[in-house]
Amino acid sequence: MNTFRNLLPEIAGGFLELLWPTRCIGCDKIGVLLCSRCDNELPRIDQLMACPRCGAPYGKILCTECYDSQGFCELSFCAAVAALEYDGVAVRLVKEYKDQHERRLSALMAHLLYQVIPADWLLWANALGYIPADNRAIRRRGFDHMQDAASELANITGLPVMHLLDKCEVVDQRLLGRAARESNINAAFAVRSDALQSNQPRSPSQPSAPSRAQPRSSLPAKLLLIDDVLTTGATMEAAARALLEAGVDDIRVAVVARVW
Ligand SMILES: [Zn+2]
Ligand SMILES: [Zn+2]
Repeated sequence: MNTFRNLLPEIAGGFLELLWPTRCIGCDKIGVLLCSRCDNELPRIDQLMACPRCGAPYGKILCTECYDSQGFCELSFCAAVAALEYDGVAVRLVKEYKDQHERRLSALMAHLLYQVIPADWLLWANALGYIPADNRAIRRRGFDHMQDAASELANITGLPVMHLLDKCEVVDQRLLGRAARESNINAAFAVRSDALQSNQPRSPSQPSAPSRAQPRSSLPAKLLLIDDVLTTGATMEAAARALLEAGVDDIRVAVVARVW
């Protein structure tokens, strides 16, 4: 009886596979989530050419999006990497994952991130954070897509995942004028109160916390923050600013895809 019960998930999985076979996100080939041909067609960004500040595919020396004529950059996070240009199979990957609820793609999202995150970042970071979806999107999808990807990335890297931010429901940016967009997006994130609890200013007599092994309820000093797509960078910038104002010292960013 127990053996039969243990086999039930496998039987159910086989039945579902018969009804809705696994298909390649790029070409619909049956049997795989991403076939080798479509994997080769993913528009991977050459990291030797990419902007080190915002992850754009070009601009290693000077990204005109990040730096003005004086070489001044206003971004709050100090570095970013992006695995793919948001084009072709990359668009289908993100849409299948987020909107078609193909949750098995979380492992692929994490793997793509892992391939471009510099090894020294993994030693540098105290924790892994992610840009959360808002409650309405989580209800609609049934999961927080970047939380799942962060968990997968944590399994690969050994970094602890911290749920640091809540996404507030703000007005659709497309409905706003240019001036209203900035204040709207700045209100999009709130640092969670349980993350703030242990980060009250320390008195001089208190010893400082160890740099790497920090309690889960406190903000990390050095945070690796991930998201699926970086478009203008405004969402990532708002999240990074909220975390820095709350007490995080330094943020580096990794995204699966970069709009360019
Ligand atoms: Zn394919
Ligand atoms: Zn840049």
